[in-house]
Amino acid sequence: MKSRKKGKFIIYVSLAVTFLLWLLSKNLPTEITAQPLVAICQITALLGTILFVWSMLLSTRLDFLENLFGGLDKIYKIHRKVSEIGFVLIILHPLTLALSSPEIGATYFFPVHTKAGVNLGVYSFWVFVTIILITLLVRNLKIPYHIWKQTHKFLNLAMALALVHVVTIQSDTSSFEPLGIWMKVLTGLGVASGLYMTFFYNKAGPRYEYEIVEIKRYGDIHDVFLKPIKHKLPYKLAQYVYVSFISEGISKETHPYCIMSLPQEDILRFSIKELGDYTKKLGKLKVGDKAIVHGPYGHLSEKFVETDKDSVFIAGGIGIAPFVSMFKQASINNSRAKVTLFYCTKYKKEASFEDELIQIAAANDNLKYYNQCSREINGGHLSIEQITSCAPNTQNTNIYLCGPTKMMEDMATKLIKAGFNKQNIILENFEML
Ligand SMILES: Cc1cc2nc3c(=O)[nH]c(=O)nc-3n(C[C@H](O)[C@H](O)[C@H](O)COP(=O)(O)OP(=O)(O)OC[C@H]3O[C@@H](n4cnc5c(N)ncnc54)[C@H](O)[C@@H]3O)c2cc1C
Repeated sequence: MKSRKKGKFIIYVSLAVTFLLWLLSKNLPTEITAQPLVAICQITALLGTILFVWSMLLSTRLDFLENLFGGLDKIYKIHRKVSEIGFVLIILHPLTLALSSPEIGATYFFPVHTKAGVNLGVYSFWVFVTIILITLLVRNLKIPYHIWKQTHKFLNLAMALALVHVVTIQSDTSSFEPLGIWMKVLTGLGVASGLYMTFFYNKAGPRYEYEIVEIKRYGDIHDVFLKPIKHKLPYKLAQYVYVSFISEGISKETHPYCIMSLPQEDILRFSIKELGDYTKKLGKLKVGDKAIVHGPYGHLSEKFVETDKDSVFIAGGIGIAPFVSMFKQASINNSRAKVTLFYCTKYKKEASFEDELIQIAAANDNLKYYNQCSREINGGHLSIEQITSCAPNTQNTNIYLCGPTKMMEDMATKLIKAGFNKQNIILENFEML
């Protein structure tokens, strides 16, 4: 089974087990059919909670999860999906409860109950709803990522309240022990995941200290070189890390960047484009500043390292970052497979690493480099014909894409139409929201 499918399968199993235990908690099927709204209210609460447990677990960046789901970028996509579905289910919970007893229905949305456990459920509900609404609206409202991230931490609170709610209320979870134990263990896992990420990840997670030894600047791109202070980060080709720079005037928040250096090199290299409020401050970075590096993550180069198929790299803008090292490695390995790199920029002057890439390509006839400029005279978007003319063997070519999400999705669709195998098209997404 493909790694992403393994992870999804485990999520489905956890939902199926919850559903089964809930069914077993009923003495007679008529308990469900006699009060269908109550039944929906119960099952939506249980399944919604399990999905939020997954949502919390998936945000822990733990190694075994990366392997199960095929990379952190895939994990964040699934994290978003399970949160969205969990959100709908959690909303249905008090809604169906209210509909099942209309005379007191509205009270289920307010903390006015005599039993504290029920009120905690109401608080949990509102915290969940608020955070998920912020997340769903974050793009439209242009809420800065770091502020959104702070709001996301309150999910721990919602999860903890939900846990106490599940444990204390009179329901199937209290009357049927196996279901009670199952829900307590899983919500406990959700709470533990949130606590780990909020309080322990920065100190106890994979963490390496580095110092900046050189910075080159090309327009709005900072090419940063760092040396390890004690231990070198072990990593694979084109993986990425979360970096927190310790520098005056720059926030210590962590941001993900691809590693442009080779795993065998001691110096770590990142190329960072100014894109938003945080990266625009990186002009203040200077030699001697420290950095904390968390990771590594990512599986982009796995197939490239493991197979001897031809490769096509398609980079949009700063999406060139992972391909610089992969292209260099192909040259060092004296690759017998064809490796073609298309560096797509708007203008020629934006192709920051052009000299370096031309030099790498010049050393091996199997390596080809092209800069495709969409806005130069005689330029335009990269066409499928350009790709197939360099990679005519569509069945024996792996295509790697890194750039704006829309560009990658459009290109992937066209490539599949042109005869490339879907499983040979590998995407690295720089947008995790
Ligand atoms: C796996 C991965 C590898 C990346 N590699 C590179 C690279 O090599 N070079 C490069 O220039 N950029 C890279 N990026 C993008 C880079 O992380 C963002 O451009 C940067 O974090 C933007 O921060 P900002 O506050 O300046 O911009 P904002 O305008 O606040 O953010 C722009 C977008 O960047 C993302 N983002 C912002 N902050 C974070 C964060 N702390 N964690 C995760 N995502 C965030 C969000 O999708 C957000 O919508 C990578 C992103 C990912 C996910």
